[in-house]
Amino acid sequence: MKTLEEVFETWEAVIGLEVHAELTTLQTKMFCGCKLEFGAAPNTHTCPVCLGLPGALPVPNRAAIESICLAGLATNCEIQKHSMFYRKNYMYPDMAKNFQTTQGPVAFCMHGHLDLDVDGAAAKERYRLDDLKPGEQEGNITRTDEGYVAHVGIERIHMEEDAGKMVHIGGGEGRIAGATHSLVDYNRAGTPLIELVTLPDLRTPEEARLFMQKLRQIYLAIGISDCSMEEGSLRCDGNVSLRKRGATGLGTKTELKNMNSFKNLHDGLAYEICRQAEVLEEGGVIYQETRHWDPSAKRTIVMRVKETADDYRLFPEPDLAPYDLSDEFIASVRAKLPELPDQKAQRFAQSYGLSAYDARHLVEHRATAAFFEGCMDDAAQAGDGEKLAKPIANLLINDVTAYLNENEGIQLDATPLTPERMLALVRAVAEDAISNKQAKEVLAVVLAEDKDPEVIIEERGMKQVSDTGAIEAVVDAVLAENPDKVEQYRGGKTGLMGFFVGQCMKAMQGQGNPKVINELLGQKLEG
Ligand code: ADP
Ligand code: ZN
Ligand code: MG
Repeated sequence: MKTLEEVFETWEAVIGLEVHAELTTLQTKMFCGCKLEFGAAPNTHTCPVCLGLPGALPVPNRAAIESICLAGLATNCEIQKHSMFYRKNYMYPDMAKNFQTTQGPVAFCMHGHLDLDVDGAAAKERYRLDDLKPGEQEGNITRTDEGYVAHVGIERIHMEEDAGKMVHIGGGEGRIAGATHSLVDYNRAGTPLIELVTLPDLRTPEEARLFMQKLRQIYLAIGISDCSMEEGSLRCDGNVSLRKRGATGLGTKTELKNMNSFKNLHDGLAYEICRQAEVLEEGGVIYQETRHWDPSAKRTIVMRVKETADDYRLFPEPDLAPYDLSDEFIASVRAKLPELPDQKAQRFAQSYGLSAYDARHLVEHRATAAFFEGCMDDAAQAGDGEKLAKPIANLLINDVTAYLNENEGIQLDATPLTPERMLALVRAVAEDAISNKQAKEVLAVVLAEDKDPEVIIEERGMKQVSDTGAIEAVVDAVLAENPDKVEQYRGGKTGLMGFFVGQCMKAMQGQGNPKVINELLGQKLEG
């Protein structure tokens, strides 16, 4: 098989995502009062409604509708005042009702978009992005002064409910193949679920990953879901087709179901693009089918041939009245919108003089952004926030992020690093007490050994020469070598202090304690 890069020489990939998010932060299910709880004993959170017993009537969860409207507003959707629920009929034991309650042609949220900042690996994966000049646009991607921005349309976000969970016994790895029997847990049945559907506007697996990451940040910021891909509260189907470069029509797509990590989403799509290219180049055809990405075998396999909408006999749900949202309701939801990641990044860039890149990466994790703000608040009182913002951002984006990635699952606020320690560290650098390189070492020790930077610097002998006698000798020598400058200084040109400090530092190969140097120079020059 060709590599992705080789395939992209001839083919353009067209990708659309369907993203399901369980509204895990709600108290109760979508159409009944059963408690929402992950990991409870099987079938302990059920009732006639979510078990589909005859005659039971559903009642929509108002908080869930608030949540989906929040999601819509946060992704630039139009909130539809009038919409209704539909039945999507199918028979499978995971849904006792024999249908899923979902929405029809009009969803609560329609016609949104997100703009993706395409940089790093994503910029590299796009075909010949370098050819674009600043201000130029090709398809949905624009080159700005800062980088590349891809505009990704969102067709809709609709409300639906989750199915129960099947547990297959006796087969390999819990799979249905080879199982002797299956169990079903209806605790999850009726969990409020929102499904976002993008337009086919993504062009690379990296962009698909970026979209998911950005959407996850937004959902976390508005607090509608815990967005755990591992536990399945955030799931994604990747639809992908190929067309010859320059073509405008759409090819036949395949759908990769239930990608449960960013890496799987990326790798599954990348494989599928290469597989489709091979089939097409050998004169074959792509069948519209659902495929499963097997990360250990590194290939996709057919799950089933695509069912069509007709198979579901979609029709309006007779037990639920059409839904009308008032202007007041929509306004009240809008008022609850918190600062979104893009807005936060903009504010960081403006208030603290950071580059767009730094600001964007700082807000990727809420805990990191909050930590940064904690540092800045403390520094504002000392008045040195402006000059410390950039070094703090650097350490957070590079070193601290790498540490958190290596120790998966650790939250920043559960590490020994505190804003106070971060400030002590960058101030030590600002005062030339230690070098940038040493700061990285000290940071690693803070995280590993839970000690204050000052203590680590002392213990490891990183502390620069503070011995007054040794420094005094250097200061005397520097003053003796520059009688004219000493004259000027005493004549009022106090800005020369920096020059003297620099000369002393140079003479001590950067090892002199700048505080002591400053003090001694002051005494001798004034005295
Ligand atoms: P389906 O009827 O199979 O559910 P939809 O039209 O509802 O297909 O689209 C589902 C997702 O697939 C959307 O994200 C959409 O953007 C994407 N999609 C649709 N057609 C294509 C295509 N030819 N190639 C890639 N993605 C596509
Ligand atoms: Zn119930
Ligand atoms: Mg569809």
